[in-house]
Amino acid sequence: MFEYFKNIWSGFTTALHGMAITSSHIFAKSVTIQYPDEKLTLPSNARNRLQLEMSRCNACNSCAVACPVNCITVEGTRVSPDDPQQDVHWDGKPRKMWVTRYEIDFAKCCFCGLCQSACPTDAIKHTVEYEYSEYDRNKLLYKFQTLSPAEAEEKKRLLAEFRAKEKEKECSSTAGKAHEAKE
Ligand code: SF4
Ligand code: SF4
Repeated sequence: MFEYFKNIWSGFTTALHGMAITSSHIFAKSVTIQYPDEKLTLPSNARNRLQLEMSRCNACNSCAVACPVNCITVEGTRVSPDDPQQDVHWDGKPRKMWVTRYEIDFAKCCFCGLCQSACPTDAIKHTVEYEYSEYDRNKLLYKFQTLSPAEAEEKKRLLAEFRAKEKEKECSSTAGKAHEAKE
Protein backbone atom coordinates (compact mmCIF):
# COMPACT_ATOMS: atom_id res chain seq x y z
CA MET A 1 0.00 0.00 0.00
CA PHE A 2 2.83 2.37 0.94
CA GLU A 3 4.54 1.57 -2.37
CA TYR A 4 1.32 2.43 -4.25
CA PHE A 5 1.07 5.97 -2.80
CA LYS A 6 4.79 6.46 -3.23
CA ASN A 7 4.48 5.81 -6.96
CA ILE A 8 1.56 8.25 -7.28
CA TRP A 9 3.55 10.94 -5.45
CA SER A 10 6.58 10.27 -7.62
CA GLY A 11 4.50 10.58 -10.83
CA PHE A 12 2.93 13.84 -9.56
CA THR A 13 6.26 15.46 -8.61
CA THR A 14 7.89 14.34 -11.89
CA ALA A 15 5.06 15.96 -13.88
CA LEU A 16 5.40 19.16 -11.83
CA HIS A 17 9.17 19.19 -12.40
CA GLY A 18 8.69 18.77 -16.18
CA MET A 19 6.09 21.58 -16.27
CA ALA A 20 8.40 23.86 -14.29
CA ILE A 21 11.15 23.35 -16.91
CA THR A 22 8.69 23.96 -19.77
CA SER A 23 7.27 27.08 -18.08
CA SER A 24 10.75 28.52 -17.55
CA HIS A 25 11.21 28.57 -21.35
CA ILE A 26 7.88 30.22 -22.19
CA PHE A 27 9.30 33.74 -21.94
CA ALA A 28 12.89 32.88 -22.87
CA LYS A 29 14.35 34.26 -26.13
CA SER A 30 13.58 31.94 -29.06
CA VAL A 31 16.59 30.17 -30.63
CA THR A 32 14.77 28.93 -33.73
CA ILE A 33 14.04 31.09 -36.77
CA GLN A 34 11.33 31.04 -39.44
CA TYR A 35 13.55 30.02 -42.39
CA PRO A 36 13.39 31.01 -45.25
CA ASP A 37 11.63 34.23 -44.19
CA GLU A 38 14.37 34.77 -41.62
CA LYS A 39 18.03 33.90 -42.21
CA LEU A 40 21.03 33.61 -39.93
CA THR A 41 24.29 35.39 -40.72
CA LEU A 42 26.91 32.68 -41.02
CA PRO A 43 30.47 33.13 -39.71
CA SER A 44 32.95 34.18 -42.39
CA ASN A 45 34.81 30.85 -42.12
CA ALA A 46 31.67 28.78 -42.86
CA ARG A 47 32.34 26.07 -45.46
CA ASN A 48 29.64 26.38 -48.08
CA ARG A 49 29.70 26.85 -51.86
CA LEU A 50 33.21 27.21 -53.29
CA GLN A 51 34.27 30.17 -55.41
CA LEU A 52 37.25 30.33 -57.76
CA GLU A 53 39.16 33.54 -58.38
CA MET A 54 40.55 32.95 -61.85
CA SER A 55 43.17 35.71 -61.63
CA ARG A 56 44.85 33.67 -58.86
CA CYS A 57 44.57 30.21 -60.44
CA ASN A 58 47.57 28.77 -62.29
CA ALA A 59 46.10 25.32 -63.06
CA CYS A 60 48.58 23.65 -60.69
CA ASN A 61 46.04 20.89 -59.87
CA SER A 62 46.84 20.81 -56.12
CA CYS A 63 43.15 21.27 -55.21
CA ALA A 64 42.08 18.37 -57.43
CA VAL A 65 44.77 16.10 -55.94
CA ALA A 66 43.71 17.03 -52.38
CA CYS A 67 39.99 16.44 -53.01
CA PRO A 68 38.96 13.15 -51.37
CA VAL A 69 35.94 12.63 -53.64
CA ASN A 70 37.48 13.66 -56.99
CA CYS A 71 34.92 16.33 -57.67
CA ILE A 72 37.40 18.89 -59.07
CA THR A 73 38.71 18.68 -62.64
CA VAL A 74 41.50 21.04 -63.69
CA GLU A 75 43.14 21.26 -67.10
CA GLY A 76 45.62 23.85 -68.32
CA THR A 77 48.03 24.63 -71.09
CA ARG A 78 51.19 26.73 -71.01
CA VAL A 79 50.93 30.24 -72.41
CA SER A 80 52.75 30.35 -75.74
CA PRO A 81 55.25 33.24 -76.01
CA ASP A 82 53.70 33.86 -79.45
CA ASP A 83 50.21 34.23 -78.00
CA PRO A 84 48.94 37.73 -78.87
CA GLN A 85 46.77 37.66 -75.72
CA GLN A 86 48.97 37.69 -72.62
CA ASP A 87 47.46 37.85 -69.15
CA VAL A 88 48.59 38.81 -65.67
CA HIS A 89 47.74 37.36 -62.28
CA TRP A 90 46.19 39.34 -59.42
CA ASP A 91 49.71 40.31 -58.24
CA GLY A 92 50.77 41.69 -61.63
CA LYS A 93 52.98 38.72 -62.52
CA PRO A 94 52.55 37.30 -66.05
CA ARG A 95 50.31 34.25 -66.36
CA LYS A 96 52.24 31.14 -67.38
CA MET A 97 49.30 28.72 -67.64
CA TRP A 98 45.89 29.15 -69.24
CA VAL A 99 43.17 27.38 -67.27
CA THR A 100 41.30 25.58 -70.06
CA ARG A 101 38.99 23.64 -67.76
CA TYR A 102 38.02 24.10 -64.11
CA GLU A 103 34.96 22.22 -62.94
CA ILE A 104 33.55 21.36 -59.52
CA ASP A 105 30.74 18.85 -59.14
CA PHE A 106 28.87 20.12 -56.09
CA ALA A 107 26.67 17.00 -56.11
CA LYS A 108 29.75 15.13 -54.86
CA CYS A 109 31.44 17.80 -52.71
CA CYS A 110 31.47 17.10 -48.95
CA PHE A 111 32.69 20.62 -48.02
CA CYS A 112 35.76 19.30 -46.24
CA GLY A 113 37.88 22.37 -47.11
CA LEU A 114 40.93 20.38 -48.25
CA CYS A 115 41.00 22.06 -51.67
CA GLN A 116 41.09 25.48 -50.00
CA SER A 117 43.94 24.41 -47.72
CA ALA A 118 45.93 22.91 -50.62
CA CYS A 119 45.69 25.93 -52.92
CA PRO A 120 49.01 27.84 -52.87
CA THR A 121 47.48 31.08 -54.16
CA ASP A 122 44.15 31.25 -52.26
CA ALA A 123 42.31 30.97 -55.57
CA ILE A 124 39.68 28.53 -54.33
CA LYS A 125 37.72 29.53 -51.26
CA HIS A 126 34.57 28.53 -49.45
CA THR A 127 31.86 31.17 -49.29
CA VAL A 128 28.91 31.55 -46.90
CA GLU A 129 26.43 30.84 -49.74
CA TYR A 130 24.28 27.80 -48.96
CA GLU A 131 21.13 28.36 -50.99
CA TYR A 132 21.91 26.73 -54.32
CA SER A 133 19.77 23.58 -54.40
CA GLU A 134 18.76 22.26 -57.82
CA TYR A 135 16.15 19.78 -59.01
CA ASP A 136 18.53 18.60 -61.74
CA ARG A 137 21.85 17.34 -60.34
CA ASN A 138 23.60 18.16 -63.65
CA LYS A 139 23.12 21.82 -62.75
CA LEU A 140 25.45 21.28 -59.76
CA LEU A 141 28.39 20.87 -62.13
CA TYR A 142 29.92 24.34 -62.01
CA LYS A 143 32.28 25.44 -64.80
CA PHE A 144 34.61 28.20 -63.64
CA GLN A 145 36.87 28.45 -66.71
CA THR A 146 36.65 31.80 -68.44
CA LEU A 147 37.95 30.59 -71.81
CA SER A 148 35.39 29.17 -74.25
CA PRO A 149 36.13 25.68 -75.70
CA ALA A 150 37.19 27.31 -79.00
CA GLU A 151 39.54 29.72 -77.18
CA ALA A 152 41.03 26.83 -75.16
CA GLU A 153 41.70 24.88 -78.37
CA GLU A 154 43.33 27.98 -79.89
CA LYS A 155 45.66 28.32 -76.87
CA LYS A 156 46.69 24.67 -77.24
CA ARG A 157 47.24 25.14 -81.00
CA LEU A 158 49.42 28.23 -80.44
CA LEU A 159 51.59 26.34 -77.94
CA ALA A 160 51.96 23.30 -80.25
CA GLU A 161 52.91 25.63 -83.11
CA PHE A 162 55.50 27.42 -80.95
CA ARG A 163 57.02 24.11 -79.80
CA ALA A 164 57.17 22.78 -83.38
CA LYS A 165 59.02 25.97 -84.47
CA GLU A 166 61.47 25.64 -81.56
CA LYS A 167 62.13 21.99 -82.43
CA GLU A 168 62.70 22.88 -86.06
CA LYS A 169 65.21 25.57 -85.01
CA GLU A 170 66.97 23.09 -82.72
CA CYS A 171 67.19 20.46 -85.50
CA SER A 172 68.61 22.90 -88.04
CA SER A 173 71.15 24.18 -85.50
CA THR A 174 72.26 20.59 -84.67
CA ALA A 175 72.48 19.77 -88.39
CA GLY A 176 74.56 22.94 -88.96
CA LYS A 177 77.00 22.03 -86.19
CA ALA A 178 77.36 18.47 -87.53
CA HIS A 179 78.07 19.87 -90.99
CA GLU A 180 80.75 22.23 -89.59
CA ALA A 181 82.33 19.34 -87.66
CA LYS A 182 82.60 17.26 -90.88
CA GLU A 183 84.41 20.07 -92.67
S1 SF4 B 1 35.53 20.96 -50.19
FE1 SF4 B 1 36.47 18.90 -50.12
S2 SF4 B 1 35.07 17.62 -51.33
FE2 SF4 B 1 34.57 19.74 -51.84
S3 SF4 B 1 35.81 20.20 -53.65
FE3 SF4 B 1 37.02 20.82 -51.86
S4 SF4 B 1 38.32 19.06 -51.38
FE4 SF4 B 1 36.64 18.32 -52.73
S1 SF4 C 1 42.55 26.65 -57.49
FE1 SF4 C 1 44.56 26.78 -56.52
S2 SF4 C 1 45.21 24.66 -56.20
FE2 SF4 C 1 43.52 24.62 -57.69
S3 SF4 C 1 44.52 24.65 -59.69
FE3 SF4 C 1 44.05 26.77 -59.13
S4 SF4 C 1 45.91 27.54 -58.13
FE4 SF4 C 1 46.07 25.30 -58.16
